[in-house]
Formats: sequence, structure tokens, C-alpha cells
Amino acid sequence: MAPTSDETPVETTNTNCVVVGGGPAGVVLAYLLARAGTPVTLLEAHRDFDRDFRGDTIHPSTLEALDALGLADKLHALPHGKLRVMRIKTPDSERVMADFGRVRSKFPYVMIMPQARFLDFLAGEAAQYPAFKLVLGANVQRLVAENGAVAGVRYRDGENRWHEVRAPLTVAADGRHSKVRALAGFEPERSSPPMDVMWTHLPKEPGDAADEGTMHVGGGHFVIIFDRGEAWLVGFVYLKGGFQNLRAAGIGELARQLGDVVPAWRERFARHLTDWKQVPVLNVESNRLPVWHKPGLLLIGDAAHVMSPVGGVGINYAIQDAIETANQLAGKLKSGTVNDADLANVQQAREWPVKVIQGVQTAIQERVVAAGLQEGTAFRLPLAVRLLTGMPGLRWIVPKILGWGVRPARVKVG
Ligand SMILES: Cc1cc2nc3c(=O)[nH]c(=O)nc-3n(C[C@H](O)[C@H](O)[C@H](O)COP(=O)(O)OP(=O)(O)OC[C@H]3O[C@@H](n4cnc5c(N)ncnc54)[C@H](O)[C@@H]3O)c2cc1C
Repeated sequence: MAPTSDETPVETTNTNCVVVGGGPAGVVLAYLLARAGTPVTLLEAHRDFDRDFRGDTIHPSTLEALDALGLADKLHALPHGKLRVMRIKTPDSERVMADFGRVRSKFPYVMIMPQARFLDFLAGEAAQYPAFKLVLGANVQRLVAENGAVAGVRYRDGENRWHEVRAPLTVAADGRHSKVRALAGFEPERSSPPMDVMWTHLPKEPGDAADEGTMHVGGGHFVIIFDRGEAWLVGFVYLKGGFQNLRAAGIGELARQLGDVVPAWRERFARHLTDWKQVPVLNVESNRLPVWHKPGLLLIGDAAHVMSPVGGVGINYAIQDAIETANQLAGKLKSGTVNDADLANVQQAREWPVKVIQGVQTAIQERVVAAGLQEGTAFRLPLAVRLLTGMPGLRWIVPKILGWGVRPARVKVG
């Protein structure tokens, strides 16, 4: 970890916590620490929060947490959509998969807001606290080691100059391809989801329904469509590895396949989909680190556990990690005394909710998604899904698991 001479930092700063990565986990953690008066520096590699589409969903449990912080009303004043009901449509049936009105919450819906808008909002709120420092364009490339512990990071700015930030705790919230995780020598345990997903947006048209989402299944594909406020968000789920063939066949072929699953929108897909740039691809992964920490370093969010997109819960779990971290560590970080046992406690609190939801996702992938992706076989919803969505006494379970999550952390700081 020793720097070569051309990596000599042009400046070294000290703080109580350095957070690497300005995604949902990093921004929420930095906000909470700053609000509690704990000096924190947030380093984000990009120059803004607007980048490739990475999900727009803000779940009821996150909205409740924001409400406890007095931020929910302000957030609702920004343009957004609301997903109140998610339906599933197969060639021979249609049923409500999740009615979020059944979640006992002040916010019985999933808010849909472009992630950049959400992160800009939170960073703006954090900026009012003197303990908050945000550095954009800060690409973290090295860990600083001291006495066998991580003592901070080095990053390169947009002009290739090195900077060092020292802190008793470094939090890696740098996402699924975490550089810090690799630098620390951590290797996640992986499972193998059977699918990948492409996403795109389509403008709304007169007469379209609002506040709804539908998962269409047919012809070996899933097409997920939901209200993003100003537009429709469309996800196309296909067998892993199928992208190259589809791409070679051209964007018109994607529009055709979408139209086969959702015939009512056939003409709409053909009219709007003209360029692959409109369609970012999500290589679906699911993994989890066996250990999320070492002295001076904690990993949270996708850096510690990449969630499958089933249920769209990755953002929610990343934010819950941030809340738990702030709950447990804000006070200790303020006085500069965090030890490895404290970090282990954060992992212990968050690991089992992550394990449970990843187990649910794996079961859905194996029993529902894999069956739906078989071309040429008639798709039938498994019995368990028919019971959960059909029996009145059980209909609360799916929206509760998706919208509320497993043991969501409640804000206890600030
Ligand atoms: C196409 C796509 C669609 C998705 N849709 C949904 C959805 O609908 N709902 C949902 O809940 N989840 C969705 N997800 C998953 C969701 O985006 C993640 O679970 C969530 O963003 C994880 O948050 P995070 O803060 O841990 O990491 P990220 O959001 O990945 O943030 C990591 C941040 O770290 C920064 N960074 C990376 N390396 C460095 C470095 N070396 N130095 C400094 N900064 C660095 C990155 O620029 C990024 O801003 C989707 C993901 C993808 C890719």
C-alpha cells in the first residue's frame, strides 16, 4: 500500500469517517453522521449523481426513515411517481401480485424517483451541516494502512493529482464493483441468477393508467412496466448470456420481442426504441461477503452484498445498512473510538435480513423466473405464488416483504 513517488498526495486531510461512494448507502450514511455532528468526508468518483440508470425505487420503510428525519414532505414535493399496485399478467391470467396499500405505513406505496434527483436532494440536505464534506470527482485508488489497520484512503482528482484522507474509519459504499473491497482483499460468495435485465423509459400517452406496475410473462420473457412519474419504466428480463444475440439482431428485434409479450404496446415499442443507448443492461448478480469489516474498514450496501433485482430492493437494503451503521457508530466515531467489535456488530445486525431476502430472491428465481424464461413451454404461476396472491388472508405477505423488508433499521441518531 506504500505510494510510489508520483503518487505523493498534494494534500492530506483528517476526518472522523471517510465514506467511499456517493450512491444511496454512502449519501445516507454521510447525511446521518453529519446530522449527528460527526465529521465525515464523502468521496464520489463521478462529478455528479447523474449516471447510468440504477433504479428509482424508494420503499415505504425508507420513506418512514426519511419521515423520522423530517425529510419526507420535502422529498414528496419533488416530481415523482407512486407504485401502489403491482400486477402479474400471464397469457391466461391476471392477478394482483402486491397491493402496497396493505402495508401498514404512512406511505403505502413505492415512490419512484430518478436516483440522481433523490441523491441530489439528500446531498443538498447534508450540505447544511458543517460536519459534512463532499468531494466529487474523487476516484479512490488506494487504502492507507497504519499499524495493521486501514487508516484512510488515497484518491485521484480529475487532474490526476493524489489526495489523502485519513480517518479512524473508512466505509466502503462504492457499489457492486467495489474498488475498496478488492484493495482489502475481500472476495464475495456468489450465487448464479439465471437472468439479465435491460431497462428503458417510454413516454406516457393520453389515457395511460397511473400509479401502477405490471409484470407481463410470456414467450420466454418477463417485461416489467411501472409508473416513473413523468415516464414508464420498462424492464426486459431475458436468459443470462442472451444479450449478444439480441444486440446482433438489432434494436428492432428487441422492440418486436417486447411487443410479443405486451401486444397492446407493440406499436409504442417500435416507435420509441431506435437506439441501444436507450437501453442500459443490468448484468444480474447476487453475492455477499462472508466478512464485512477489518480494523478501520467497513463495507456496506452493494459493496458488501449485491442483491438480485427481484423485488427491486437493492436501494432499500443499502440505505438500511447506512442507517444501522449510523445508529451504532455515529457517537463512537465522534469520540474517535471505533474498534473491530463495533464493526462486527453492524455486520451482525444487517447480515441476517440480507440473507433472508437473498434466500427469498433465490427461491423466486429458481421457481418463477427460470420457468418464465423457458421458451415454448406454457408458463403457469407456481402454487405458492397463487396462494400468496389469491388467498385473502395471505395477500399482505408479498407487499410487506417487498415494501417493508426484513427488520428495517429505524433511525436512532440525530
Ligand atoms: C440497471 C440497474 C437497475 C437497478 N434497479 C433497481 C431498482 O429498481 N430498485 C432497487 O432497489 N435497486 C436497483 N438496482 C440496484 C441498486 O442500484 C443498488 O442496489 C444500489 O444502488 C446500491 O447502493 P450502493 O450505495 O451500495 O451502491 P451504488 O449505488 O452502486 O453506489 C456506489 C457509488 O460509488 C461510486 N464509486 C465506485 N467506485 C468508486 C471509487 N473508486 N471512488 C469513489 N467512488 C466510487 C460510484 O460512482 C457510485 O456512485 C439496480 C441496479 C442496476 C445496475
